[in-house]
Amino acid sequence: MTGDGDAMTFDYDLFVIGGGSGGVRAARIAASEYGAKVALAEEYRMGGTCVIRGCVPKKLMVFASSYAAAMEDARSYGWEVTAGAFDWTAFRARLDAELDRLEGVYRAGLDGAGVTIHDSRATMEDPHTVRLATGETVTAKHILIATGGRPFLPEVAVSAGAMTSNDIFKMEALPRSVLIVGGGFIACEFACILNGMGVNVTQYYRGEQILRGFDGEARGHIAELMRESGVNLHVGTDVIEMKPVDGGTWVKSTDGREAVYEQVVYATGRVPNTEGLGLDKLGVKLGRKGEVVVDEWSQTAVPSIYAVGDVTDRINLTPVAIREGHAFADTVFGAKAVKADHDLVASAVFTQPEFGTVGMTEEEARDQRPIEVYATSFRPMQSAFAGRPDRVMMKLVVCTETRKVLGCHIVAPGAGEMIQLAAIAIKMGATKEDFDRTVAVHPVMAEELVTLRKPVRAA
Ligand code: NDP
Repeated sequence: MTGDGDAMTFDYDLFVIGGGSGGVRAARIAASEYGAKVALAEEYRMGGTCVIRGCVPKKLMVFASSYAAAMEDARSYGWEVTAGAFDWTAFRARLDAELDRLEGVYRAGLDGAGVTIHDSRATMEDPHTVRLATGETVTAKHILIATGGRPFLPEVAVSAGAMTSNDIFKMEALPRSVLIVGGGFIACEFACILNGMGVNVTQYYRGEQILRGFDGEARGHIAELMRESGVNLHVGTDVIEMKPVDGGTWVKSTDGREAVYEQVVYATGRVPNTEGLGLDKLGVKLGRKGEVVVDEWSQTAVPSIYAVGDVTDRINLTPVAIREGHAFADTVFGAKAVKADHDLVASAVFTQPEFGTVGMTEEEARDQRPIEVYATSFRPMQSAFAGRPDRVMMKLVVCTETRKVLGCHIVAPGAGEMIQLAAIAIKMGATKEDFDRTVAVHPVMAEELVTLRKPVRAA
């Protein structure tokens, strides 16, 4: 660098710290669409949480774990199926190869866009300078913090050597038994995955019902189905004491139970990766969890420094980080003022069955305005024929005055796919009558969404 500010020259127009979904998108768009000179530093593997230790390997594990039930169903459909045991080692080898491939795709995308990659940790030196682990300093007119988050472990779990979701993908062998602590996305998803793979799963959640913050009825429905499928789910239960013993970890819980589990997994939330980055000393504001505080343009209190994705702890989902990264690049390098839209973001929890959700829960909506609730629960054709007790739940929360659909909540096989499409209609402001005017596709589960005639309750 030869100076500072607009009149000065820098090594780069943009330096991105973090090679996850948000950082990579911002770097690629700034470089390939707007001709910016861009560098990106990543200390671990390109692709970040989503690709390396999150959404992608998790979803592949969801697929892997679903075959036991599928094979049972196949028998009911007339197939002679003899299922062998699940081979974790064989699956993991394929999983590792797939992640290597995807990491390569991410790298190639950056290379193709002309982004300089530093395989190194980077920390902030001043508002325009980053220091790499080699000691080298690099300057940039704009710096984007996209360092994501990491699992949070309470002290009791750290001292007992409990695993996190990061470790699950690297297990050498599947345990026979596992205790999962937590009741959020990650805890519920891995409880279902490991249960499907034949592990004896116990799950402790400290609150009254799993998946706090989601629609109450959906939470109850999922909890029931998880128990029916074999997860030993205990709510209102937490760990008091844990210690490593022969054969695993001895755990004493608040309900007085004592048991030994081969593995214990903590899925008790995630914290933003800001430690040691040197942001606070530059005047970048950090929140209570250590998150980077940004405005609607993803700009921090230091004008040259921006942040996107989980490190800002807004909506911690990959597609949101991607939108934030893209909006940042459009705004700063494309002379187009674009804000990432955080309203009506749909999401899916990959429990088995899946949970797809968009908009307000019944509880949120009824606190704000008069509503009608349309809901149904039924046994889907495919599993009913196979003799499984699974039930699907679908629910629309409708504003009594405007008739707009405020929220849609689906617990069903493929609910993640369904909610993506329902979200388009709801984002467009569809009313209940718009849903009703839409002719059903038959015979599919989702047709129930357009044939819900009478409200089950008003509030
Ligand atoms: P969540 O915040 O969803 O859940 C954390 C859970 O841990 C809660 O049940 C919480 O209980 C519990 N908990 C927190 N602290 C403690 C403690 N000290 N002792 C016992 N229990 C505790 O976090 P996750 O880690 O599950 O997921 C992190 C984020 O990642 C999600 O919020 C989501 O944004 C994203 N994600 C998205 C996925 C998807 O889109 N499918 C999949 C996985 C993750 P309480 O409710 O009482 O606070």
